[in-house]
Amino acid sequence: MYQLGAKWKLWELQNVFQKEVSSITLRGYSKESPVSLPADFYAFEKRLSVEKIASKYCPTRRDVYFEIKRGIKQKSVNRTWGQTAGYLIEEYCKGLLEYFHKLAKNPEGLYYQRIQELVDEYSQSFWTTHARKIQDLRKKASNSEETPERLFFLLQQTAKYELVLLGADYEFSQNSGLEFVPLIDSIPIKFDPETLTIAPDEHLGLGKTTTPDFIIMSPMPVMGDLKSGNSLKSFHLNTIAGFALAYESQHKVNVDFGIIYFLETHSKQMNFAQSYVFVIDDLLRKQFLSTRDQLYKMLQSDDDPPLADAKDYETHCLFCKYHAKCYPEG
Ligand code: SF4
Repeated sequence: MYQLGAKWKLWELQNVFQKEVSSITLRGYSKESPVSLPADFYAFEKRLSVEKIASKYCPTRRDVYFEIKRGIKQKSVNRTWGQTAGYLIEEYCKGLLEYFHKLAKNPEGLYYQRIQELVDEYSQSFWTTHARKIQDLRKKASNSEETPERLFFLLQQTAKYELVLLGADYEFSQNSGLEFVPLIDSIPIKFDPETLTIAPDEHLGLGKTTTPDFIIMSPMPVMGDLKSGNSLKSFHLNTIAGFALAYESQHKVNVDFGIIYFLETHSKQMNFAQSYVFVIDDLLRKQFLSTRDQLYKMLQSDDDPPLADAKDYETHCLFCKYHAKCYPEG
């Protein structure tokens, strides 16, 4: 997804943040410390994904230890309303762009009114094909904001807004009459798995491949992730830093900016998704790299990491896939 404002911001960014960008030193293609995985950790034969390093679900990283070191795999389940909503939002956005990608091949008559009708049609069909998940979402609701109807209303409004802006963007760039034709082909966002799959160089100590949610290819590569929830979290930025380092190592080009497309699911006001655009500076890069090193250090130890703090029980442990392992008594 994409907003006209964000695109304008992207063009501006290169000028506005020239100083910050020129001070970035930790590039993914560098084989120096701290970019390369420290030699001491190479002996540990398993490699970690960007998401595993950055996402920090368990505050003590016990979940990663169980999975990677002890080989105890648990199927991921969307236990909370937020996790289930996040899955549906991602599916909805990807499907919407694919749907419009097909229509854009023959854009005649895709004016504003028609876009509204098409978004409604798409949403109805999505609702039918994802009926079980939507039912699941309904069961997990714990307050009046957590209804599938409200979530879908927000998604539909966001979709209309985005597609109309895409059309306006195209028309402005063509300097022709404003018919609001959303020509997805004309925008530089890549969602296809082939472009998205990054194969990082070995010195980063990452898994063989990694995939951000989307990449904007022009006017420069920008790593993108789609997120939802109550608020933007710092680990979201950390994930983008990992993707940027990985991309730089493979393609030997600089990735200076990241974008998080965030849909706030619990706002009391009517809201649209927001694009957060930021410089992937050395501070963010260092944060990702030091999290990577700490995790490898922990995995070399023979002792299980401690349980998470009691204050994290209700928010983390209760919904964790390793709950039964950490709390066998129930
Ligand atoms: S149950 Fe709690 S302590 Fe155990 S892995 Fe999950 S979050 Fe960590």
